[in-house]
Amino acid sequence: MRSQLDGAGGLRHLATLDGLGRDMLVAILDRAESYRRFPGQPAYEGRELAGVTVSNLFFEPSTRTRASFDLAARRLGAHVLNLDMQSSSRVKGETMLDTLYTLEAMNTDIFVIRDSEPGMPDFLIDHVAPHVSVISAGEAHLSHPTQGLLDVLTIRAHKRRFAGLKVAIVGDIRHSRVARSTARALGTLGTSDLRLVAPAALLPEEAEFAGAQRFTRIEDGIAGADVVMMLRIQKERMASSAALDEAAYFREYGLNGERLRLASPSVLVMHPGPMNRGVEIASDVADGPRSVIREQVNNGVAVRMAILAAIAATLTRRRKPL
Ligand code: ASP
Repeated sequence: MRSQLDGAGGLRHLATLDGLGRDMLVAILDRAESYRRFPGQPAYEGRELAGVTVSNLFFEPSTRTRASFDLAARRLGAHVLNLDMQSSSRVKGETMLDTLYTLEAMNTDIFVIRDSEPGMPDFLIDHVAPHVSVISAGEAHLSHPTQGLLDVLTIRAHKRRFAGLKVAIVGDIRHSRVARSTARALGTLGTSDLRLVAPAALLPEEAEFAGAQRFTRIEDGIAGADVVMMLRIQKERMASSAALDEAAYFREYGLNGERLRLASPSVLVMHPGPMNRGVEIASDVADGPRSVIREQVNNGVAVRMAILAAIAATLTRRRKPL
């Protein structure tokens, strides 16, 4: 694994949460909390990224992640380039490296990349100039580090602890980069009771998620849970989803009010979005009193500000003098 830290221990790139220790995660969460403003409050405005250019390269669809990286960078004073990669030159045959070098020539300092191909963030890290950083905004089914961070920030805000928490992740875990990153962050911060709930075909390989319990009945998996995180079925990562009967899935695995009563009375209901109401989650649960789904979105901006600010601080040390 490539080092994501510079020689002085500063955050240089963020491709994965693997290898980032507890102290680093806590420092990021603390910084994110200082940037967090709730709806109705004036947003934080700072100059931490003054003179920094951030290029957002999204080769897969995104609503929350893309909008929040954009807002986060602007609220810290950056110049932001949002490239519509569906209509970009990569479609016309320009290689990823040519795109990279083109945007570096325009003084990009930080690339934010989402791609369906495994290994793309590391590939960019291997090829960017020494004064340029890379942040993953979602790598295939493997990793979504800022989502993992915003999930643990949301849990910390309510539970104030990670040790002893019972966390159930329910749905298409096999194809979920969110489940992988959130589980990694929880493990680093001290949660050991992780339950994975899915039909057998959507559970991950045995070797993944070491130490987690596996369930094929949702009622068993969410019993007594402090956190229930629901996931969308990632049809775009399946060879064929033709056989998927959404009504039957909702009957067997959908989170409805009756099932939610099996969890702890103070349970947090989470979902990274986009939600499929009536498939993995009932509308009244998604909008109900135990749901923190919109808080996750709010925390997403704060976490991305914290990551950008931490990387910009490292970048300042690396910049060439005029
Ligand atoms: N938005 C999340 C992701 O990019 C979850 C999802 O798409 O279901 O992985």
